[in-house]
Amino acid sequence: MAKKSKVAAIVGMKCPRCHQGNMYSAPISQGIYKMHKECTVCKQPFELEPGFYWGAMYVGYALSGGYMLSTVGILILALNWSVEGAFAVSILGGLFIFPLIARLARAVWLHIYVGYDKKYDPTINKLPLDNVTAALEDK
Ligand SMILES: [Zn+2]
Repeated sequence: MAKKSKVAAIVGMKCPRCHQGNMYSAPISQGIYKMHKECTVCKQPFELEPGFYWGAMYVGYALSGGYMLSTVGILILALNWSVEGAFAVSILGGLFIFPLIARLARAVWLHIYVGYDKKYDPTINKLPLDNVTAALEDK
């Protein structure tokens, strides 16, 4: 698989280092925060330190605030809804969106701290000596 963009990897909730392994081990219906301990492809740990994802709350706050502002804003300003109706619909929609935002916030948070490493991209053509060079670099 060719290198995905950072945004595509975040939206797809893929490992920040290889952009291939899934961060989450189960569908959202089986638990919002069911994550792999490490990437199944490149072994990148997903919890960098204890309590690492506390900071993801800031990202989640920004994302959910953006969701509420945009939906209420569109309903009131563009579609001329009442304030009560716009908030009711936005909160009802939030029941489905907020678990997704919680997962997305963790993905964004991890992608802030871990960068992409093309070493894990299998589509990059390697010369026979590249494996030897890589083995020497690891020592
Ligand atoms: Zn990975």
